[in-house]
Amino acid sequence: MVGEPQDDCLFCKIAAGQIPADVVRETETTVAFRDIHPQAPTHVLVIPKVHHPDAASLAAAEPGIAADLLREAGQVAGDEKLESYRIVFNTGSGAGQTVFHAHAHVLGGRGMQWPPG
Ligand code: AMP
Ligand code: ZN
Repeated sequence: MVGEPQDDCLFCKIAAGQIPADVVRETETTVAFRDIHPQAPTHVLVIPKVHHPDAASLAAAEPGIAADLLREAGQVAGDEKLESYRIVFNTGSGAGQTVFHAHAHVLGGRGMQWPPG
């Protein structure tokens, strides 16, 4: 069923507490944890506890949880005292997505270039 945990999904396992992560925030619907390969001084991933393959699929199926995800991304930035930061949703392998469970990258603490690579 849509949104159900997937046996082969790393982030479903982190959401369920079956794989350890450096969790910085948790709500009824989301978990935020530090990226294992940080690309900036602050690099936190915010995931929904439900499984959807990418952010747009999450928003289409469960818009309230997509809003929770964005709100939590902002809370992470506040907790980390970031005045400027970037929220990234890589979507599709060509855009760098490697884990097919929706997640927001919250990146900050250094200067950012535009356009992104
Ligand atoms: P993406 O490439 O957009 O799909 O993002 C997946 C992110 O998950 C990458 O930045 C990885 O470094 C990160 N990642 C992979 N495994 C773990 C893990 N066990 N704990 C924390 N972050 C992870
Ligand atoms: Zn999943």
